[in-house]
Amino acid sequence: MRQHKLALCKGHFLDWLVGQTQRFIHKYHMFSHEDNLLVSVSGGKDSLALWDILIRLGYKADGLYIGLGIEEGINYSSYSEQLCKEFASKYNTRLIVVNIAEQYGESIPQLALKSNRAKDKPCSVCGLIKRHVMNFVARESHYDVLLTGHNLDDEAAVLFGNTLYWKPGYLHRQWPVLEANRPGVIRKAKPLCRFYEKEMAAYTFLRGIKYIYEECPFASGAKSIYYKGFLNTLEANQPGTKLQFYLSFLQAKAGGLFAENADPEIEAIHACLSCGSPTSAPGECAFCRLVKTDH
Ligand code: SF4
Repeated sequence: MRQHKLALCKGHFLDWLVGQTQRFIHKYHMFSHEDNLLVSVSGGKDSLALWDILIRLGYKADGLYIGLGIEEGINYSSYSEQLCKEFASKYNTRLIVVNIAEQYGESIPQLALKSNRAKDKPCSVCGLIKRHVMNFVARESHYDVLLTGHNLDDEAAVLFGNTLYWKPGYLHRQWPVLEANRPGVIRKAKPLCRFYEKEMAAYTFLRGIKYIYEECPFASGAKSIYYKGFLNTLEANQPGTKLQFYLSFLQAKAGGLFAENADPEIEAIHACLSCGSPTSAPGECAFCRLVKTDH
């Protein structure tokens, strides 16, 4: 690992990654062993690796899989659901499955087709629905913290996009933990936020975790992928650039930079009249309006 000036054998690498995760959980005050945790799993390497690590560290962690109904190419949704179920049964742990088509009558691509939010891709509708379902399930099932498998490459790409367009409200909110400081919002944490994507790929490979290699068929052309490629070019020339970019940002934030930039549009303060989820305007949230409009 050039970025850390460190070379480890298999056994020490696996121990190092688990130990570092515990260190980050502690450093950013993410959660404790008393908390009930819900891990959002997609069937991809990061979320399944996160679930594996939490179980090894002795946390009470269940999984949540959201079936999007995206069957293009390799039957993306069916295959990722199968991998999550296999993981849960192998580790003898609980997996909650929410199938969007069964729950709301139509799959993500179908809902997106009817929505004026979607242009040529279902991603904005998909993001809206996933955020709603994750928050709703975690809240209604009385979990203390919702966890996602975002790694350093994800966080650095988001940071790069928000910096490129100077979005102070989003910069204000980006942090390894999002507090439950608004009505209807569940606490969220990203314990893998300081690990490179390559490190997570190595972890899942060495641990023998089966995961879906393919990206969602709608992911190609996403801005975040372009930003990741750009950051990888920087990283290749100067190992450690991505980590430094992210850590320097966290340090600047902890020092008070962006403290004045809370965006009232993002810092929603209303509870949706139908589902209780947070929304920036009084009345129903965007999710309830979308689902009702389409039916
Ligand atoms: Fe949803 Fe796929 Fe778009 Fe990701 S790339 S937001 S999973 S449709």
